[in-house]
Amino acid sequence: MKITRLSTAVIAGNFPWVLVKLETDTGHTGLGEAYWGAGVAELVHLAKPLVEGQDPRNINKIVEMMIRCMSGAGSQAGATVTAISGVEIALWDLLGRILDTPVATLFGGLFRDTIRVYADCHAGETPDPADYAKKAKEVVAEGFTAIKFDLDTPNPYTIDISDDPHPRRRWFEPFNRSIGSREMTWMVDVVRAVRDAVGPEVMVAMDAHWKYGVNDAIKLAQALEPFDLLWLEDPVPPENIEAQRHVTHSTRTPICTGENLYRKHGYRELIEKQAARIIAPDIPKMGGLAEAKKVADHADLYYIPIAPHNVASPIGTVAGSHVCAAINNFLVIEYHAHDVEWWSDLVNEAPPIEKGFIRIEDRPGHGLTLNEDVARAHLKPGSSFFGDEPHG
Ligand code: MG
Repeated sequence: MKITRLSTAVIAGNFPWVLVKLETDTGHTGLGEAYWGAGVAELVHLAKPLVEGQDPRNINKIVEMMIRCMSGAGSQAGATVTAISGVEIALWDLLGRILDTPVATLFGGLFRDTIRVYADCHAGETPDPADYAKKAKEVVAEGFTAIKFDLDTPNPYTIDISDDPHPRRRWFEPFNRSIGSREMTWMVDVVRAVRDAVGPEVMVAMDAHWKYGVNDAIKLAQALEPFDLLWLEDPVPPENIEAQRHVTHSTRTPICTGENLYRKHGYRELIEKQAARIIAPDIPKMGGLAEAKKVADHADLYYIPIAPHNVASPIGTVAGSHVCAAINNFLVIEYHAHDVEWWSDLVNEAPPIEKGFIRIEDRPGHGLTLNEDVARAHLKPGSSFFGDEPHG
């Protein structure tokens, strides 16, 4: 059995969804997805000589060959790992279809057959906390039991130093990673409004996008303790694990991070130093399904749960959900396309997310097939539809 062809199609969703297709001499196909990014589709094509001609059942060997042979292109971290992730996911889907088995079964079977999804709500329509509360209620009314908002921006009290005529207020300018008192009060008001709107049982997370220094991050996390957040995400920049650890151990608000890390090695220090309470690997970005399973198992040594970051199409989302079903320490997975009306139409099956949950179906592979008409209608301009030529 041999892989005969590797090809891509880039779909213009709220991010460019890089779909990866594998074909074999037995007629089986696999469909994966890589996280977006400049050059990712080209890097997938760079892997063609390493993938085509291989027996698709030897997934670990094929992935290791890509990691080793593409090291010059950057297979330690970054876009090359992302491209490899897309191929890796396609390989697992292909193996599932060859064996007539769901991907989750290949990873040891189900801890759960319904996967809790959290809706990324972004921001309120206006900076009024009441508008955040309104949006939260609307999304919860759709069935979501977990939601997330951006907390750091747009903060109406963040001073634009280019326009501010009062130099003495520049203590609170955005580049020094500080939080002004009015900014802080507004953030607490937003969280209070959302919590009051949805009640105590809905899981509420907040994202701070790596914005603050250690001291102000701790002040923010402690100020939010009364609201029992599911997590506060990325309150400090991602590079310094010691700083991350200090914040995490200084508050009862759980700190979540991990969407910028790659491969199991990238998560090692974060996990072993217990520098986060919750870890958020982006599965089609950080190495793929088996790599995410390894990170989850490593985190479980320290009883740390996993909440995957996810901005993928249904293909990457549901493929990742099969791993979420097969690890005990899964918490919740992100859904970032609430405002993309045709997200579910990209596949022929029933909408993957129903009332805030993904059901793991007893179908081979990840269980989804591409609706080619919808995919073609949203093909990224200049991109080919599973053709041979490299493209962005
Ligand atoms: Mg985030």
